Amino acid sequence: MDTQHTRSQATARPRLGWPRRIGWRLALGFGVLVVLMLVALAQAIFQIHHITGVTQRFATGDMQRLLRVQALSLQTEGVGNALIRLINAPRANRVAEYADVDERNRRIDGIVESLADDLKDADQEQNLKHLVESRAAYAEAFIATADEIEGDNPAAAWRLLNERVNPALKTMLLESNALLQRERERIESQLDDAQRLFDRVALWVAGLSVLAVALAVWLGVRTTRSVVGPLEQLEVAAQRIAGGDYSRRVPMTRTQEVDRVGRALNTMTDAVAQRERDIEHLAFHDPLTGLPNRTALFNAVVSTQAPPNCLALMDLARLKAINETLGYTTGDTLIQQTAQRASQALQAAAASGLIGPEPVVARLSGGTFAALFSAPDRAAVETLRERIEQAMGAPVHCSGHSVDLSLNYGLADSGDPAQGATALPVDTLLRNAEVALHSAKRAAVGFAWHSEAQEAARLSHLSLLSDLRQAVATSQLQMWLQPKFSLATGRAVGAEALVRWQHPTRGFVSPAEFVPFAEQAGYITMVTNWMLEQALRSLAAWAPTHPELSIAVNVSTRDLQQKGFAERVARMIEASGVPAKRLRLEITESGLMDDPTHSVALLHALRDIGTPLSIDDFGTGYSSLAYLQKLPVSELKIDRSFIDKLDQSPGTQKLVRAMTEMGHGLDLMVTAEGVETEAERETITRLGVDVMQGYLASKPLHGEKLQAWFDVLPIK
Ligand code: C2E
Ligand code: CA
Ligand code: CA
Repeated sequence: MDTQHTRSQATARPRLGWPRRIGWRLALGFGVLVVLMLVALAQAIFQIHHITGVTQRFATGDMQRLLRVQALSLQTEGVGNALIRLINAPRANRVAEYADVDERNRRIDGIVESLADDLKDADQEQNLKHLVESRAAYAEAFIATADEIEGDNPAAAWRLLNERVNPALKTMLLESNALLQRERERIESQLDDAQRLFDRVALWVAGLSVLAVALAVWLGVRTTRSVVGPLEQLEVAAQRIAGGDYSRRVPMTRTQEVDRVGRALNTMTDAVAQRERDIEHLAFHDPLTGLPNRTALFNAVVSTQAPPNCLALMDLARLKAINETLGYTTGDTLIQQTAQRASQALQAAAASGLIGPEPVVARLSGGTFAALFSAPDRAAVETLRERIEQAMGAPVHCSGHSVDLSLNYGLADSGDPAQGATALPVDTLLRNAEVALHSAKRAAVGFAWHSEAQEAARLSHLSLLSDLRQAVATSQLQMWLQPKFSLATGRAVGAEALVRWQHPTRGFVSPAEFVPFAEQAGYITMVTNWMLEQALRSLAAWAPTHPELSIAVNVSTRDLQQKGFAERVARMIEASGVPAKRLRLEITESGLMDDPTHSVALLHALRDIGTPLSIDDFGTGYSSLAYLQKLPVSELKIDRSFIDKLDQSPGTQKLVRAMTEMGHGLDLMVTAEGVETEAERETITRLGVDVMQGYLASKPLHGEKLQAWFDVLPIK
């Protein structure tokens, strides 16, 4: 771009005397033309005037002189004849003949005299001198002849005539003819001069005209080229810009007006290029973190050298709760920090050769990020994950809060190429990673690989589900109860009912393993029904000694979607004779959010039966505070991921305190799940939590252990 720039500057160096503005150029060119035309016109007028003078002079003077000289010859010839007639004439007729001769003589004298007035050269003077002399000789001879005539001596008269008069007259005639000749020559030479002058004028005018035309042509071509050339360059530049090439500048020309347009075009190009970069950036980048977005992630494969064979999904835990309780600014800061630290960790891993070059980190949504890269094996990916975890170690400080970054990972790869695995497309990797992330969250483990085993497990769950119907019928299910304790009094307030499945061939099957699939397949309602029956039976058994205890049953979204669920619960409660307020229903926050409006209506229906409701796993879903206010619930169960190592995490403590205060603000009982250590218990007590549930107080109990616990409960 720079070389182009300097080259175009070089061509723009102004030529000496050639103005840089078209206006000046046109003025100068046409000014010169007008001056030239005026000079030609003046010259023509002057020369024509001159020619007119010459012609006039010729017409008035020279022609007259020529005529006079001609008249002189005539008169001279005539006088000879008149003399002959005089000699021959009888005396009586002589007077008339004398008068004729005298008249002719007078005329000759007059002409000679007038010719003497304006002689033009020495030759003519010589001629005239001879003419005058011969006139004098003629005059003498004439007088002598006339004397002889008067003396009636014709022979002597004839002699005189022949010897003196005629020679004198002949000389006169000769001289006058010589004069006439000279005069003719002079006129001819003057005519030649005039012709030459005329030719010269014509040549001058023609020359000036040709010069003017040539200049006009040159000027026209020059001006046209100086305008058309740069305009063409502008046109080419404009087409280039239209074609999306913003790298080259419009070259500078020697024309100011065009350069102004060129500069404007350059400025426009820069602005358009910048805007296009901005738009492209917006289209492919996330504005909050500056990371590529989902679209850019899919495009990334084309640009990286080593085809990526791994995709790691990273999900920022509890983002919703943080947004709700500590504010969106804090949430945004967490997202930015996660983005920055994850990117740095990946770049460092690529630089150290742990993974392939050019890893791509993209933000997909909310607190979910995807890293796309190539890695030699799963061990390398797990090492990478550990490094990312280390990078997330330091808490984030924002608006006076200190918050821990906690990520869940879903990992997916294309498999081992050595064992015939082909590279998977990015969307497949992403879908697999999502499945893995889901199972990591469900199992409450930090990370999970998507695997063939997972696929197999999914299939085996399907066969498991077909066994579930059997399980309900043949009492393979058990209800275990996990007690809950008031932190203020230390007394048991009730228990949560948790399902267990003793499979005849597979052995113990964890609810985490079959509940989600049973929910998907809609089989969960059988389980819920069975659990409700069991819970109500236990409550009925406890009623005589411990009527204050309640039992909470987990209700799934599918139950809520079933028509007449509230009525069925009502019928079962009635049939058991247990007060409705002893049975609690736990509904997960995320379950409510699947269909928020319908959920609100249904919860109201349940609430109307008199059954208290709890929000389960609070803090992991995406409910808004405004939405929570509409729910007719009486308990908030803070998810156990918040309680884990709570005593060591001041940031999470702030969150838990905020959630507790919020719960109390809505008149809810706040329960902490998964309390495992004394330190955690102390912390939640300090933070104002009302009820605890967890291994520290009691694991879920069944059979004899449950009976033993129940037996030692202090009776009110
Ligand atoms: P949940 O509703 O959050 O239940 C609490 C889970 O946390 C139980 O796991 C319980 O054993 C476990 N837990 C209790 N205290 C501690 C502790 O101190 N530390 C740790 N690490 N864990 C603790 P469980 O029984 O495996 O149940 C897993 C999930 O399966 C439940 O989570 C619930 O979502 C679902 N589930 C269990 N029983 C039922 C049921 O009858 N119906 C429905 N719909 N879902 C059920
Ligand atoms: Ca529960
Ligand atoms: Ca829970």
